[in-house]
Amino acid sequence: MNTPPQTPSGLRRGSRPKSSAAFERVAGKTRKGMLVVISGPSGVGKGTLVKELSKRMPELRQSISVTTREPRPGEEDGVHYFFRTDEQFEQMVANDELIEWSQFVNGLFYGTPRSFVEEQLRAGNDVVLEIDVKGAIQVKERMPNGVYVFILPPTMEELEARLRKRQTEAAEAIRQRLSVAVDELNFLLLYDFQVVNDDLDKAARKLEAIVIAERCRVGRHLPH
Ligand code: ADP
Ligand code: 5GP
Repeated sequence: MNTPPQTPSGLRRGSRPKSSAAFERVAGKTRKGMLVVISGPSGVGKGTLVKELSKRMPELRQSISVTTREPRPGEEDGVHYFFRTDEQFEQMVANDELIEWSQFVNGLFYGTPRSFVEEQLRAGNDVVLEIDVKGAIQVKERMPNGVYVFILPPTMEELEARLRKRQTEAAEAIRQRLSVAVDELNFLLLYDFQVVNDDLDKAARKLEAIVIAERCRVGRHLPH
């Protein structure tokens, strides 16, 4: 007679767990940290949404990117970004200190520090990255098990209105950011989920639901 197939948890189909260790494995106590990658056009509300998500899920760890751009009024080094010179950024790239990096349309560099993300994931914490499409492509190659979410504006007119309202870019920079937004849409299929940020509360609820559902995936609870 064939023996019943062994399941990943070590349980045999139709059998009861033989030990609490086997039960804890399936109950998810050993789940690895999950990477949540959020992209979308500049001005769509990624920062605002991630802030809202963090209020609802304070256990999420947010990666702080390194950039060569100047701080905007109110932005603090080590809080919103690590603001660095071109030379410092190049050195980080040379030392392989960044998981991914890209040059944005403004000509400035942005990247994700490796050590924070790897430490948090190892510790079983879920980490949120807010990065552009070029960065997300690099991360997905190395971490295909992450959750990739693209935030869409309700309309292009609304996107433009939000960028203007934010008053952080000049007219030419806004034009560039809008043209990148259209280009980035070609990469939508790289992502697992799309969320339209029309009403902030509704969009944040959708993001929260995605994170909750992804944490429940059987594959994330397999022994490793
Ligand atoms: P991003 O991080 O994607 O560049 P921000 O979070 O800075 O975008 O948001 C851009 C502007 O749009 C900000 O002024 C923000 O207050 C506004 N905003 C964000 N979400 C919404 C929304 N759901 N409805 C209206 N305005 C929004
Ligand atoms: P901003 O200058 O508006 O803060 O950001 C411009 C763009 O850079 C946004 O699309 C934002 O998502 C992206 N960005 C921010 N941090 C990173 C990062 O660490 N890596 C990459 N690839 N893009 C980033």
